[in-house]
Amino acid sequence: MKICNQCILPETFPGIKFDDRGICNHCRRADSSSTDPAVQKAGYRNKLDTLITGVKGTAPSYDVIMAYSGGKDSSYTLKLLRERYDLKILTLTFDNHFVSPVAWQNIRTLTDTLKTDHITFKLPWPSAKAIFCKAAREDIFPVPALLRASSICTACIGMVKSLVLKTALEMSIPLVAFGWSPGQAPIQSAIMKTNPSLTAQNQASLKKALSSDAITEINQYFIPENYYAIYKDRFPHNIHPLAFFDYDEGEVIRQIQALGWKEPKDTDTNSSNCLLNAFANQCHIKKHGFHPYVLEIANMVRQRVMGRDEGIEKIYSEQNQEMVKYAKEKLEL
Ligand SMILES: [Zn+2]
Repeated sequence: MKICNQCILPETFPGIKFDDRGICNHCRRADSSSTDPAVQKAGYRNKLDTLITGVKGTAPSYDVIMAYSGGKDSSYTLKLLRERYDLKILTLTFDNHFVSPVAWQNIRTLTDTLKTDHITFKLPWPSAKAIFCKAAREDIFPVPALLRASSICTACIGMVKSLVLKTALEMSIPLVAFGWSPGQAPIQSAIMKTNPSLTAQNQASLKKALSSDAITEINQYFIPENYYAIYKDRFPHNIHPLAFFDYDEGEVIRQIQALGWKEPKDTDTNSSNCLLNAFANQCHIKKHGFHPYVLEIANMVRQRVMGRDEGIEKIYSEQNQEMVKYAKEKLEL
């Protein structure tokens, strides 16, 4: 398969165009941008400093709620928020029934060493199973979402986002943090105030995507309609700091290992916490002809936070068939 000579996007990626040097349109657009990435990142760090100075200590309970998977990126983000900003943090883990046992241990260890409170949200297995089976069989999300992640991942992350936002509104927490890698979400969205109207739109489309005859009891995972009015002044800022802090995977792992984090041996190359990911990747590749992580990894290669060979290795290796089998059997697919 032909892939871009600069990043690693393949010819099967929707909308891709190569020039005569074999460079893709995504790389050309990034090269022609007049913004210096280092200056842009420094600008965002200042913006976060200012935002945190303004909100720290103002809430009755926590400064920030963080979606915490126990994976390397969210563990590193937690360390950053705790050590650089000394925030009062509530971490929330969404138990999707596929969290690696090593990731659970990492969650316990890091929330202890970094002295942060932690809650787990687990939906019942029949509901989780119905949602993941639906996402495995059908394209339940629009194309732009599927360029960035598999249906299964998007369903799971959608619920995580909904649950942390709902909790932030209820507990009046001014910041919601995510550990997206620098390639996972654009820097332009790295610090963004949520608002009732956009949230309502997102919630409606997620609810529509997840609803089915098998999944009738899902309202409790979403923002109740009356919150948009009664909590309209509580809508928090979403932040994902790794978009604009220095990022090097080896260094990230070294720093969190110093806090007691251990690398799981039972996950695939694109996840350090989830045992469903390899199956989700395989479904996506079969259906769409490209790896659901390729945009993220290509962005990281282009930003030079990951080597091109390493990116190719992560994206163009076979999925671990043992893990695929584990997930398929558990989902009875
Ligand atoms: Zn490219």
